Amino acid sequence: MGDAVHFSELGLVNTREMFRRAVGGGYAIPAYNFNNLEQLQAIITACAETASPVIVQVSKGARDYANQTMLRYMAMGAVQMAREMGSDIPISLHLDHGDSFELCQSCVDSGFSSVMIDGSHLPYADNVALTRQVVEYAHRFDVTVEGELGVLAGIEDEVSAEHSTYTKPEEVEDFVKKTGVDSLAISIGTSHGAYKFKLKEGESVPPLRFDILAECEKRLPGFPIVLHGASSVVQEYVELINAYGGRMEGAVGVPEEQLRRAAASAVCKINIDSDGRLAVTARVREYLAKNPGEFDPRKYLGAARKELVKLIKHKNEAVLGSAGKA
Ligand SMILES: [Zn+2]
Repeated sequence: MGDAVHFSELGLVNTREMFRRAVGGGYAIPAYNFNNLEQLQAIITACAETASPVIVQVSKGARDYANQTMLRYMAMGAVQMAREMGSDIPISLHLDHGDSFELCQSCVDSGFSSVMIDGSHLPYADNVALTRQVVEYAHRFDVTVEGELGVLAGIEDEVSAEHSTYTKPEEVEDFVKKTGVDSLAISIGTSHGAYKFKLKEGESVPPLRFDILAECEKRLPGFPIVLHGASSVVQEYVELINAYGGRMEGAVGVPEEQLRRAAASAVCKINIDSDGRLAVTARVREYLAKNPGEFDPRKYLGAARKELVKLIKHKNEAVLGSAGKA
């Protein structure tokens, strides 16, 4: 506790004001995951250049991979980089899928401005109790909290679920009231990873359950809703990966049109991770295949970073509608 750092010292903001504007504004704040320098540079460059508010988020896997302290100072560096670019976009540092009170507490104490406590796999009363405990701690430091009701299918780092369970709209009011959460992730048919739907020949992606979203919105008017597992699994990248030695068969995501529709509603935060991973892998594979004598990581990671900037600008401008909203 002696070396606790508050997010405001790092130039970060919590998500409260971002969400307040997004809910009424018909767009969603992008939440991009990062694990390394090039990803974070790309996120900041693209969001500064499109004047988009942004949430940079860290999963348990990212903390294991890159070290929590390193990630905190990277986020601090990201804020400074944006300011040097002449941009004053709001930037939040968020814990994605926190799985215990202790983890959330440690993130609050180490400069995160927002945390998710994911108790969605627990019995309802236990989810309420755990989420309430995190909210009570986080709010003492003005850190905002995301909870979750309903379980998404798929795998995101260590968070895995065999089968999805849609959010029960009849629970959302009670959950928000009892826990005091600032935003709520719901399950309406999205899933984690690059293989979101198992489709047979000729089948198309099933539509998201907009009826459940509408019911949640009706019961919680103006309350920020969050969508996880919302990558489109850009087919151009899957094709590049497969063309240059990869093997990703049947990788499919949520069509952009459905994400646009969600962003225009009460959904005010959309998590995008897999599309960024695909962009990086596609350009690294292509670069190395075309330049077999190259051994400078800056060359192939530079190509990946450039593609990531392009992808993120596209998401902000054409999918989430967050461009120009900073
Ligand atoms: Zn997630």
